[in-house]
Amino acid sequence: MTTRLPRIQEAMRCHGFDALAIVPGSNLRYLAGLTLHAGLRLTMALTPADGQPALVVPELEHARVTETAGAVFRYYPWSDAEGPGQALARAVRDAGLQPGSVVGIEHMVMRVFELRALEQALPGAQLVDATPLLTELRMVKDTTELQAMRVAVQVIEETLRQTIAQVREGMRERDIADLWERAIRSAGCLPAFETTVASGPNSANPHHTSGDRALQEGDMVVFDGGAVYQGYASDITRTFVVGHPSDEMRRVYDLVLAANAAGREAAAQPGATGESIDAAARQVIERGGYGPFFIHRTGHGIGLDVHEPPFIVAGSRTPLPVGATFTIEPGIYLRGVGGVRIEDDVVITANGAESLTTFPRDLWSIA
Ligand code: ZN
Ligand code: ZN
Repeated sequence: MTTRLPRIQEAMRCHGFDALAIVPGSNLRYLAGLTLHAGLRLTMALTPADGQPALVVPELEHARVTETAGAVFRYYPWSDAEGPGQALARAVRDAGLQPGSVVGIEHMVMRVFELRALEQALPGAQLVDATPLLTELRMVKDTTELQAMRVAVQVIEETLRQTIAQVREGMRERDIADLWERAIRSAGCLPAFETTVASGPNSANPHHTSGDRALQEGDMVVFDGGAVYQGYASDITRTFVVGHPSDEMRRVYDLVLAANAAGREAAAQPGATGESIDAAARQVIERGGYGPFFIHRTGHGIGLDVHEPPFIVAGSRTPLPVGATFTIEPGIYLRGVGGVRIEDDVVITANGAESLTTFPRDLWSIA
């Protein structure tokens, strides 16, 4: 974990940051392997561009945090009786920060009470959004990260297989989702998000919450789930049919399948961008006459967060670096009738792209 620090500090110097102030969340996990709940007590890692990072931490978390992060940090514990002000002030001073220092903060994560505490401890500092720097670093997955993602993918695919083997006509969506989530937990992972089973007309809603509807003959059923292993997420969607699909849903399925393949192929091209992948997938659906029914972007980055940059969407024009991991998940949603989505997790490699998810993509009949 300490091996990541030099890379982060080098990037900080390139971007002209004197320090980064990181609060609990996936960036802190990235920095030091620490999984801390964003609670009500101030916790903040101050990483200078040179030297050892400081961690301001509530007394009651101190022992546990030291066990995980060890000598990565110099620790500044504070008790409920004294409050965090003095510990933060000492950490700021020891990090050599002063009025005028450029300190990177997380605009999408830091809460107002954390910002105010930092402003108070370091008046006159320039607090600048560090999201672009952190994004740039986190987008490129190293071997350890990819290995964790491969396990997360393996677990989600195995448990999907186990789950669909138990599905019968008449079962409720929520009970099927529950079966899948229990299988994920038994495999030693956690669900990455609320597991979705959307059947019949419900499958036309990309954000459906699994409910009481029972599976019926002819239903399209969208299964969308993910597993977290060592902090890293997988995210897969497959669409099945109960019995036989209608002619239209068969046509729609084949289009989404072709769009998914076109997206994966575009990802393998040199210089692929979020925009080029989105365009390749979208074009297939548009040419098939269903353009207006593909109502979301083609995909999102995945890693410590289930949704993170890069986004696979028009306007995303930076070439994707080797090691970038993201989903390709085109879909068609016909209101009141049904929907289809096929989602894979892909990584950019030195000579193209690899789909981490390999679960069969042809239309399977379940139950
Ligand atoms: Zn998904
Ligand atoms: Zn997704």
